[in-house]
Amino acid sequence: MHLADLLTLGARPAAGLLLALTDRCPLACAHCSTASTMAAAQSPGEPFRRLVDSFEPDCRPELILMSGGEPLLRPGLVAELTASAARVGTGAALLSGMFFARGGAGLPPAVRRAVAGLAHFAASLDAQHEREVGRAEVFGALAAVLDLVPAVSLHITALPGAGPDPYVDGLVAEVRRRFGARVPMLVSAVRPTGRARGLLPAPTPGGGDPGPCEFAHWPLVDQDGTVLACTRQSLLRGGGPAHLVLGHAARDPWRTLSGRTLGDPLLRSVRTLGPIGTRRRHGPPAEPGCAPDACRNCLALTPATAARAAEGLGTPEGRRMERAVLALTAARAPRRLAVARGALPGYADLVELGWAG
Ligand code: SF4
Repeated sequence: MHLADLLTLGARPAAGLLLALTDRCPLACAHCSTASTMAAAQSPGEPFRRLVDSFEPDCRPELILMSGGEPLLRPGLVAELTASAARVGTGAALLSGMFFARGGAGLPPAVRRAVAGLAHFAASLDAQHEREVGRAEVFGALAAVLDLVPAVSLHITALPGAGPDPYVDGLVAEVRRRFGARVPMLVSAVRPTGRARGLLPAPTPGGGDPGPCEFAHWPLVDQDGTVLACTRQSLLRGGGPAHLVLGHAARDPWRTLSGRTLGDPLLRSVRTLGPIGTRRRHGPPAEPGCAPDACRNCLALTPATAARAAEGLGTPEGRRMERAVLALTAARAPRRLAVARGALPGYADLVELGWAG
């Protein structure tokens, strides 16, 4: 599955499921959004197995996307989940920091077995990662992965700044020289979460209303099995508000979780009007003088908001609007979907590199 198709799938509610298999990672990248270390939490694999085993041929996501921390610290679990998903026709993708490439000794057998069944393999590489694993080592491992997996991409982050980034330009040119169009790239700005808080100036809330939220489409299973409605995991660490918690992987099957994702009126409203629009229309009233930060408004929504949102979405106008926004989002080009999720516009074309369309 090409990166562009993965982005398109990301615009469809409940078309995919994110699994954060562990908070642990052997690398210590300065911009890590989950502030992962080898001392971080890692729960038993059972809740992940139960949830993926609950997929049914007529009720399943099209893709599971495994991340962490570093998911390949659990290669056996990755292979099990990939096989269990494939049983009903669900594909599997994975995002890795490439720790196993250090030393340039090739793919370890357990990693080779884990990646062999994937539909997409995404690797992180940027200035902070390169201090942990060298570029030549990552390229060598990526070449080996390309022999095993039909689609590969690189996820690159850049520190926010005006105009082109010389480091990113150099990296992109080298990827193109080495791999041609076989490795599309998603270039995003580092977000001020996790360890990256130490790298960036304190965020200034505001900046206007970004509209419908792109992060409320797929559920995310956190490392402890909690299922969140929002894929910005670092925002909800330690338990988000009840309206952004869908359930738990140890007890709720996919049929229940996808039903909540698709049916919950607050999530539907956040996907239709956006969190700021939802609060404006359905309350609670914003504090006077408060800057319109999308996530802060989303976290402040209440059960009373949900009741009013359900009413609004139940009217013919509400139903029309919801259908229209979903259709418009799904029809956007992958490069535009990438920008809506934080990709830098100047590099957005790279997500479609080698894509047949
Ligand atoms: S507005 Fe923020 S908190 Fe709400 S679903 Fe979107 S990303 Fe998550």
